[in-house]
Amino acid sequence: MTEETIFSQILKGKVPCNEVYSDAKCLAFRDLQPQAPIHILLIPRKAIPSLREAKSEDTQLLGHLLLTAAQVAEKEGLQNWRTVINTGAEAGQTIFHLHVHIIGGRRLNWPPG
Ligand code: AMP
Repeated sequence: MTEETIFSQILKGKVPCNEVYSDAKCLAFRDLQPQAPIHILLIPRKAIPSLREAKSEDTQLLGHLLLTAAQVAEKEGLQNWRTVINTGAEAGQTIFHLHVHIIGGRRLNWPPG
């Protein structure tokens, strides 16, 4: 059986979070270790470990996540922001429940490290 991630526990209400948005398909909450003045995580309620495991049946859900990320960013007053999906440990993924980082509120450099 796959081990339950901290994000699954947040979704079940077993672990608290600083929620900013919720709907039937996803939940957004503030990152515990923000890398910018605004750093929000948006996660699907469906436990997909990473983008690598996403299937064609998840097309609508993935589209919903991106459109919701934009709505959340705009609600936070951002006009410029970065959305990041780390996929795999070597790309920086530490929690294996697909999530979109929404980062903004300061100038963001490119390329990322
Ligand atoms: P990643 O490295 O892409 O897997 O991102 C995981 C993110 O989750 C990191 O930015 C962590 O700071 C954040 N994080 C870990 N645990 C929590 C938590 N309980 N509540 C909010 N953010 C968390």
